[in-house]
Amino acid sequence: MKIAATRGVHGGQKRFAALVSAMCVLAYSTSVPAQAAGLKEKILPSAGPRIAIIIDDAGNHMLGTKDILSLKRPMTVAIMPFLPSSKEDAIAAHKAGDEVILHLPMEPMRGKRSWLGPGAITTSMSDAEIKEQVRKDLDNIPYVVGLNNHMGSKASSDERVVRDIVNVAKERGVYIVDSATSMKSKMATVAREMGVPYVKRRVFLDDVHRPDFVARQVRQLVEDARASGWSVGIGHVGKFGASTYKGIVEMLPYIDKEGVKMVRVSDIIRQGMNK
Ligand SMILES: [Zn+2]
Repeated sequence: MKIAATRGVHGGQKRFAALVSAMCVLAYSTSVPAQAAGLKEKILPSAGPRIAIIIDDAGNHMLGTKDILSLKRPMTVAIMPFLPSSKEDAIAAHKAGDEVILHLPMEPMRGKRSWLGPGAITTSMSDAEIKEQVRKDLDNIPYVVGLNNHMGSKASSDERVVRDIVNVAKERGVYIVDSATSMKSKMATVAREMGVPYVKRRVFLDDVHRPDFVARQVRQLVEDARASGWSVGIGHVGKFGASTYKGIVEMLPYIDKEGVKMVRVSDIIRQGMNK
């Protein structure tokens, strides 16, 4: 089963939705040849612990984006909508063999409105406004197959708002990543309740902007996966993107040595490992 088979915005989404249900009964074949473009592993491991790393905040010519895409490992790139390089980054990520998701700006408890950028979801919006905005944001990102929240401690704990977002995710056949920026986030619970594929972030990789800190967090991600079969981490591009990239690169040999496979978020969701 090849991720690269997904083409086009809506085609990709629909196909992903179909795959999610199909994968309940299908086992992965290890005999599928790698894609010609084959920079990154397209074949899923048949067994063993796996981790997915999401890189947030792409779309605004952020520092470190090219470095992340150059990693010879499957990554999941979360791109903010309606920014100068939103489309360009999505296309580059797809070309590199990475997975593209929408990094949906959502209102935080604290912080400036300007930090959210365009396409944001706030709690003052009506149900119709929220749904329309999420549709527009998804439409703005080519190859999108999922969404996670940017900031969002306020909006993600508001069940009405989350229900509207998950509704559109269901309509479009895209998965939900609960970034869990708040203990009260309802993203995962509502997605589960509504039967939308989802996963919850387990480890933040770069709260401290130093490669040694990032490396330590990657170790935690690996240990978490070895204990429970899978884990999902979130890092960032931007001002401190170089230290995140460096920390991840440093740990690649360790990840291999521990027998943990790096996969895209959809690979974890499809196998139902997050349940
Ligand atoms: Zn963000």
